[in-house]
Amino acid sequence: DNSSINLINIPDASPYLNTLLKQIYDEFYVSDEKVDEIIKGFHDEMRAGLDEHNVLLPMIPSYVTGRPTGKESGSYLALDLGGTNLRVCLVTLNGDSTFDMIQQKFTISQEAKDFTLFDWIAQCVDIFLEENKISYDDFTKPTPCAFTFSFPIDQTGIARGNLIMWNKGFSVPNAVGRDIVTLTQNAFTRKHVNVKIVAIINDTIGSLMASAYTNPNCYMGIIFGTGTNACYWEKVSNIKKWSTGNLDRNPDEMIVNMEWGAFDNKLQVLPFTPHDNKLNRKSQNHGLQVFEKMISGMYLGEVIRNAILWLVDRRVLFGGRSSEILNNAYSLDTAYVSVIVADDSPNLDEVRMFIESTLSIPGTTFTDRAVVKNVCKLIGGRAKRLSAAAMCAVLLWRPEVLDNPITIGVDGSMYQFYPKFAESLKVEAIRVLGKEKADNLNIILSKDGSGVGAAVVAMTVSKPAH
Ligand code: BGC
Ligand code: MG
Repeated sequence: DNSSINLINIPDASPYLNTLLKQIYDEFYVSDEKVDEIIKGFHDEMRAGLDEHNVLLPMIPSYVTGRPTGKESGSYLALDLGGTNLRVCLVTLNGDSTFDMIQQKFTISQEAKDFTLFDWIAQCVDIFLEENKISYDDFTKPTPCAFTFSFPIDQTGIARGNLIMWNKGFSVPNAVGRDIVTLTQNAFTRKHVNVKIVAIINDTIGSLMASAYTNPNCYMGIIFGTGTNACYWEKVSNIKKWSTGNLDRNPDEMIVNMEWGAFDNKLQVLPFTPHDNKLNRKSQNHGLQVFEKMISGMYLGEVIRNAILWLVDRRVLFGGRSSEILNNAYSLDTAYVSVIVADDSPNLDEVRMFIESTLSIPGTTFTDRAVVKNVCKLIGGRAKRLSAAAMCAVLLWRPEVLDNPITIGVDGSMYQFYPKFAESLKVEAIRVLGKEKADNLNIILSKDGSGVGAAVVAMTVSKPAH
């Protein structure tokens, strides 16, 4: 989407400012050729990830093998642990592609992220059951629960998986390498919460399965949110590293959780800039999830902050002044970036509000505001373009799937709130796949997908073999 790189004019720009902006532009601009190279890089890493363990792209077999029909029915408790919130839901599938849901959202505290996560989850579930008067007469029968977990786990069954690593700022000790279901289930036991986890899935799988409940031709699930990742239906014969081991039947296909945030961790194709390096070096998971660090909501504001400070340090922005707020890591929330990029008012009033009130840097000039908007547009535009490249790479991996109409279920704050994000996916798809194939693409928002998708999985796994 080259239009995202269509920068607005900067009046009164000194030649020095122009030179520096040109430099930033050259660093962050992603050409068509670069996108094509990235797609090829994806295919190489996908192949390796399906063939072998412990390579760059995890390509994790999910143990989800049954496509939903929309006829699933019944109630499940669903937990959706994201990067920012925990949602506890009671999902009722009505059996006619519709569902009802009651839910409660809990913001994950830093303490929970660093220490107490599993007990805190049990406590939230307890509150939810209590407040919604979900009680059980039969204490021998715990309430079945499906768990959507937005971190990489190495699945060894539909209700088992060992945590590969934390990311997105989580660091609960003694969890890496251990089964997340056991850890959560133990916390339920400690708190006398009478709930049994029957399935654990990645949030991308939640998106895919929730969309598939209403659109059975759903092929892929993507999250463009705090973090980023995707999953898709793969032929089991193509997953060479996997053997049917724990399954009592031989499925033809299975959803693979790609963990694409780990793409190109060796930095061979991605256009990583010094501003990205700065972020990466200071991050908890240095050298990991580098693709995620270029595009997801958790990091976008921080890359932009680095670029803005680089201009401030060269005294071409805000008269060379910063503020305490701007000096703080992660102080530039990605939500502001969306607002700044969308500001088309003649005086850039939203941008002014942001710099003067939020960042506390008074007395901006129009040039300051235009520079900030341009930098946001450029770096946000790169995020959109790389996101689209990843989606196209997966579609081109099995190009035959585009001979028929398919649906992609997408969720996440970047997709929902970043200006023209969905459009940019479509534009790139047309360029890369051609108009005819791209016309078969139905990209939909899988809002609340994590909860509904988890319930659908719980229901399909409790179905007998087909
Ligand atoms: C995690 C994935 C998750 C994605 C989107 C990434 O940081 O590794 O498991 O699907 O974020 O939430
Ligand atoms: Mg989520």
